[in-house]
Amino acid sequence: MFKGCIMLKQQDRIFSNLYGEKSWNLKSAKLRGDWDNTKDFISKGRDWLIEEIKASGLRGRGGAGFSTGTKWSFMPKDSSKPHYLIVNADESEPGTCKDRDILRNEPHKLLEGTALASCAIGAHVAYIYIRGEYFREAEILQAAIDEAYDAGFLGKKSEKTLGWNLDVYLHRGAGAYICGEESALMESLEGKKGFPRLKPPFPAQSGLYNSPTTINNVESIAVVPTILRRGASWFSNIGRPNNSGTKIFCISGHVNNPCNVEEEMGISLRELIDKHAGGVHGGWDNLKAVIPGGSSVPLLPKSICDEVLMDFDSLTAVQSGLGTAAVIVMDKSTDVIKAIARLSKFYMHESCGQCSPCREGTGWMWRMMERLVKGQAEITDIDLLQQVSKQIEGHTICAFGDAAAWPVQGLIRHFRHEIEARILKAVA
Ligand code: SF4
Repeated sequence: MFKGCIMLKQQDRIFSNLYGEKSWNLKSAKLRGDWDNTKDFISKGRDWLIEEIKASGLRGRGGAGFSTGTKWSFMPKDSSKPHYLIVNADESEPGTCKDRDILRNEPHKLLEGTALASCAIGAHVAYIYIRGEYFREAEILQAAIDEAYDAGFLGKKSEKTLGWNLDVYLHRGAGAYICGEESALMESLEGKKGFPRLKPPFPAQSGLYNSPTTINNVESIAVVPTILRRGASWFSNIGRPNNSGTKIFCISGHVNNPCNVEEEMGISLRELIDKHAGGVHGGWDNLKAVIPGGSSVPLLPKSICDEVLMDFDSLTAVQSGLGTAAVIVMDKSTDVIKAIARLSKFYMHESCGQCSPCREGTGWMWRMMERLVKGQAEITDIDLLQQVSKQIEGHTICAFGDAAAWPVQGLIRHFRHEIEARILKAVA
């Protein structure tokens, strides 16, 4: 074990059935503590729910890392218009598969969290927007929703059973990455093309059907019941200040045991990989780079991976991000230029095409990246590529433009020498 390492205690794991060792069904979920005392928490009212989640320090698990309780507090108290909760289960970020395990193995944690969050924001209707490719997960989730209706946790009977009337609808997406962006998701849910909306207005003012709406990630909602049951201070004492709680990490790539694992926020990247993923192929010294938070965040070279901690602030400090906590490991056999070029192709393909810097720029970046893979470029093209990425970043309707630019910027920042060497080799 590493010096100063932290490991999540077994009793502090929220997702005790993450690997599906037990049934997902209601009977089994109740044995794990789900739907226990839910009515008591609801009886404490909206403000109490919001303050508890704020005090826990929970930050959104979908990538942005914004305070969940604060987001809830933006919802108006006025109920002249219907309020909506949307659970974003459109998990499509390359490398990310954490919500999938919640959906198929712990659906009742998600549904109980949906009931509590709906009460906190004053919503009597909640939508779960699930990635279309998660077909089996959607089947299980729908069966869990049906169970919850039968048990009186949802539907008309929930007013009596829980003290909060709530209907939950499951909606399957059709396979567009951009529909994971919250405003594109709402457009899609309304039956339109998944085009991101300009902000403001923000969803809490005008979201789904022009009504106040809160959109939360699956993991953010599924941890809510346990936080309330065990107390805000329990959760806030796990991890590091401003980066509290547990987190599901998805570890893939050149490791011996790719896995999803719930761990403490702030665990070191090295410990995470060595303890849970069986280490890097060929050992730690064979590591070349890691993308620590899904394809949208800049990669990190080994020198930074040696020490970095896995939480929002630590990864921002090294010019990357926790994102979805999807850890993509690349050993020294990786052609890192080609790997990033592949991501550029993905972003080019998935751009919704609404704004020029993204629509045109992602194609430019991909074509330039393809040339760099072969070394068919001038050294000055590296700066040109950087410039193109900067003209996309921050100049688009939604954050997709940034997500497309950052992997390229990370490559230039840390592996410029490798790009230059390839160009020089090609002309030699
Ligand atoms: Fe569409 Fe890209 Fe503009 Fe987002 S940044 S709205 S994905 S074109």
